[in-house]
This record gives sequence, structure tokens and C-alpha cells, in this order.
Amino acid sequence: MSVYFPQNKQSFQAGEVALVGAGPGDPDLLTLQAYRFIQQAEVVIYDRLVSQEIMALLPNDCQRVYVGKKQAEHRVPQDGINQLLVDHALDKKKVLRLKGGDPFVFGRGGEEALFVLKHGISCHIVPGITAASACTSYVGIPLTHRQTAQSCTFITGHVKDCGQLDLPWSTLQNSKQTIVFYMGVKSIPIISQQLIAAGRDKTTPAALIYKGTTPEQRVYRSTLESLHETVIKEAIKPPTLIVIGDVVGIFDQVELSNIGYLTPQIS
Ligand code: SAH
Repeated sequence: MSVYFPQNKQSFQAGEVALVGAGPGDPDLLTLQAYRFIQQAEVVIYDRLVSQEIMALLPNDCQRVYVGKKQAEHRVPQDGINQLLVDHALDKKKVLRLKGGDPFVFGRGGEEALFVLKHGISCHIVPGITAASACTSYVGIPLTHRQTAQSCTFITGHVKDCGQLDLPWSTLQNSKQTIVFYMGVKSIPIISQQLIAAGRDKTTPAALIYKGTTPEQRVYRSTLESLHETVIKEAIKPPTLIVIGDVVGIFDQVELSNIGYLTPQIS
């Protein structure tokens, strides 16, 4: 029983689980390693964030098990997903656990790996391009930028069942820190209010990126204080990434094509 890290280049054996990051949607952003595991899968257990184009890369005879989750409407509870991984692995299948983005970034990948290891099953871990990295690139927002942002925080905006969003707000007040919220659409009023209370300027540029890197991608520019207004006005839903910080304004004057292609303005 062991965790195989990518550099070991272990082959996918029957009775093993591969926890694979599928990236944010665009199949071009899949890693070669992810592709290698996808091609060998006998059973795939996948999320709602995995795009159809990526699902189309699976072998025809691969058994597909959908365990997609929406906030507050978990189709298969986490315990059930963990058990599915174990059951299929014990059935001597090559079990692909395909997740949006990176499995270890707000993906519960750690929990799933621990669970299968506890049941004596080996687990491959294949990183994916996380939404914060891909979505911002596609809309021309550098996460860090010399003199503008020296650090970047990825943080969850997912509210607990009790309705609380218990975050270390005081650590997020530095104006030269980019903040990226995952799962934050529903908690935007709290996010804006708490960040402003913690000392972030209310005019700080912000962006909302809906379904980044997919054909449905939309980007909405706003400010910290107007985020909620923008969400209401544009009827923005998950999956959306929220980016807050002066980096959002860096390419304001440049033509953005929405696919990570910047063209100079000709005046
Ligand atoms: N493991 C994933 C994150 C899962 S949490 C990763 O590494 O990217 C789910 C949240 O991620 C969504 O609510 C949204 O905030 C963000 N997200 C994932 N894919 C996205 C996409 N293509 N566009 C915008 N946001 C996305």
C-alpha cells in the first residue's frame, strides 16, 4: 500500500485507484499524465466539473459513474463516493477518480486517498491545473505582478451548514495580496463586507469568472463593494471564481479574447 508520485511513472494496475485532476474544462489543459490514466480507465467516478470533451476521451467500454455535486445538494454523499472507489478497486478494476481542476485543491482528494489507502488500496495522484490558475490566465489576470501583488491566496467561500463563513479575515487585508475565492458565489455579501471591514479598499478591482476555459466562459469585472450587485444584475451562478485585487486591472486597456489571447490596442 503506497501513494505513487508522478515521477515514479508507475503503471495503472488492476485494483488501484487513480485520483486525477481534469483541469478546469478545456481539454487542451489536461496533462499528458492525466490523459494516460484516462485512456486506461475501466471505471470512472466523476464530478459535474469534468467537461464532456474530457469524458469523450475515455475508452468506450469504461463504466461511467456520476457523483456530481452541487452545493447543498450532494448527489452522492462523500462517504458513498469513498466507498464506491473501494468497492470498484476490490472488484479488481482500474478505478479512475476524475475531478475538476486539481484533486488536492478544494477537491477532497486528500480524504479520498486516505480512505482508499486505509482499505489497503494503492492510489495514484495526478495533479491538474486548478481553476485559479487557468481561469485567470484565460481572461488576462496575472495572479501575481511585480509591485502590484506579491502573494496570492486561494480560499474557500463555501458556507458551513450553520450558514457561517469562518475565515481569517484579518490576514486578507494586505492590498498587495490577490485573493481567489472558490465556491464563493453564495457568500459574496459576507465576503465583501468582511474584507472591507478588515481594511481592504472598497474600490479594489474584482472579477467573477463563470465556467472559465469552457465555451460558456463569461467574465464580469466589478469592485469589492459592487460584487453582490454584479452577481444579482448578471444572475451569476456557480461554478464561478472570484478574484479580488489590483491585478484584475492590469490588462484593463488590452483587448481580451477570453481564451488567453491578448492583442495590442492599435490607436
Ligand atoms: N478542484 C477544483 C476546485 C473544486 S471546488 C480546482 O482545483 O479547480 C469548486 C469551485 O471551483 C467552483 O465553485 C468554482 O469556484 C471553482 N471552479 C472550478 N472550475 C471552474 C471553472 N471552470 N470556472 C470557474 N470556476 C471554477
